[in-house]
Amino acid sequence: MKARISLLSLLILGLVLAPSAHGIKAYAEKSKYTMWVKLDEESLKLDCNLTFEYFNSESEPIGELYFHIYPNAFIEHGGKLVVHGVASSRGALEYSIEGSDRTVLHVVLDREVKPGEVHEILVNFTVYIPEKPDRFGYNRGIFALGNWYPILAVYDDEGWNLDPYYPHGESFYSEVADYEVYLIVPQGVTVAATGSLVEERRLGGSVVQHWKAVDVRDFAMTCSRYYTMLEDTALNGRVRVISYFLPEDEIGGKAALEAAVKAVNAYSSLYGDYPFRELRVAETGGWFGGMEYPQIVFISSRLYDRSDLILEYVVAHEVGHQWWYSAVGNDENDEPWLDEGLTEFSTVMYFEWNYGRDYAEKVFDRMVREDYYRFLDRRGDLPVARPVTFFGDDTQAYYTIVYSKGAFILWYLRHVVGDKLFFDGMREFYRRYRFKVATIEGFKETLEEVFGMSLNWFFEDWVYSSGIPSYSIRGGSLAQMGEITVVQFQIHRAGRQRALIPFVLEASEKVVYSGVANVSSSITVVEVAVNGSFERIVLKLDPQDIVPGRSNPTVVITKGGAKVEYTAVAERDRKLRSPLAVAAASSVLLVLVLRYRRVK
Ligand SMILES: [Zn+2]
Repeated sequence: MKARISLLSLLILGLVLAPSAHGIKAYAEKSKYTMWVKLDEESLKLDCNLTFEYFNSESEPIGELYFHIYPNAFIEHGGKLVVHGVASSRGALEYSIEGSDRTVLHVVLDREVKPGEVHEILVNFTVYIPEKPDRFGYNRGIFALGNWYPILAVYDDEGWNLDPYYPHGESFYSEVADYEVYLIVPQGVTVAATGSLVEERRLGGSVVQHWKAVDVRDFAMTCSRYYTMLEDTALNGRVRVISYFLPEDEIGGKAALEAAVKAVNAYSSLYGDYPFRELRVAETGGWFGGMEYPQIVFISSRLYDRSDLILEYVVAHEVGHQWWYSAVGNDENDEPWLDEGLTEFSTVMYFEWNYGRDYAEKVFDRMVREDYYRFLDRRGDLPVARPVTFFGDDTQAYYTIVYSKGAFILWYLRHVVGDKLFFDGMREFYRRYRFKVATIEGFKETLEEVFGMSLNWFFEDWVYSSGIPSYSIRGGSLAQMGEITVVQFQIHRAGRQRALIPFVLEASEKVVYSGVANVSSSITVVEVAVNGSFERIVLKLDPQDIVPGRSNPTVVITKGGAKVEYTAVAERDRKLRSPLAVAAASSVLLVLVLRYRRVK
């Protein structure tokens, strides 16, 4: 649609134009959305007026704006966003609905906005909400309102980012802004939204709620007249955490609250404090596990019927996105690994921080490692640093590679550089990019600075490339030198991945040495000096299977002078056990795997 509207029609539409405030108000250097939104419960729609104060943070003048209007991706289910008019203080503006899925609103401004300037426009629109258990939809008396209003697209070195809606994962990419949302809802309706509720007053049979949010990438909300709420605090009372759920799902509602509190505490300790005062966890319909928005996460109703581990896993994952996506932003179309890989890794860290290493190892094995190996066995490997379009409708590949392999390689990096360096790097990344947009390159640079080493081997070979190397020990010797035994062995690598590989040397079933071998070529000679005299050393390469690929050779090295003697003992059997064997080992975790139909 390409449409011009007259000033008269603007008046009919009821748009009241405020005088341009530029030069009067002191603007924060970001855009601001002020919205009046009326929820019509009966006809499943929102009537909305948006005043958008555009701040030009670019280094060039901007004469047109693009917004995503994602409700149009739900047209088959009755969802859509209808624009009635766009205007500035000088009158109507030309606009059109564009994009292959009609999810782009293109507005031609009446003047060029110079760098550092603000320009105000008004958009009058109606949102039709589909009856659908989704992040945008009405289901079981709950309105899930994610990605529901025109949100400014990002203008970066690629120009305007106008990617279509991606239903399987996220295609959202936005910069932080401030929001003032005045929401008119019928009395008795409970609202959970991004930000804080600062004022509430009655207006006839309705209630006007004023929500305010600062430094957020999006504004999402859920509404229901059936919601029950429970509240707790995290970070020693500094963060309010509120859980919203249907009364029949109280067990899940309590479990979700508990997990969210633990998650805020865990990630704040690992990466830096949660950057807001409030966090909401809301039950919604959803074919997925959960969905993240700033200061609010949607958790699918189907996980609330019992308080098992999968609900906890999903809540921990979605809350993890408050660090990776909400605070540290990224282009989820181009580099989904940066938020999903870091978040899936963080989810395992949630279990480690709250329940200890052994438990986290089990969770990692079932949720990450085995998922990836199953895919590897059936379909081979793919690189994690690929855009969502690379995966298309292949959701299995998308979730396994971006999430599971994405978390696995971070787990690997953490173990070879050590916790101190790794988490110093993660904290610095969070500090540096909080409320900004990060890239994989920025992540790499930050870690390299903190680690004091080049990470080309990791990013080039494990992040941007695919392929799994395998290793063998081709030679080994022990040489006695006084009180010291010099152990020498060769690691032969098949495959092109450079890697740091942990290894241990054991004598009489005790670890006498542990180290990390830098395997940067096809044959690497390793020589280490061990205190003591040994006749027989067992060498285990990557005994914990930290390096993705199940290549964990174990050999026995004995004394033999110049003659190398070694005996291959057995490769650690990391082949997948049958579901029955898994069930016998851990019925809880089997349930967890079966029910975990990927979180977002
Ligand atoms: Zn996610």
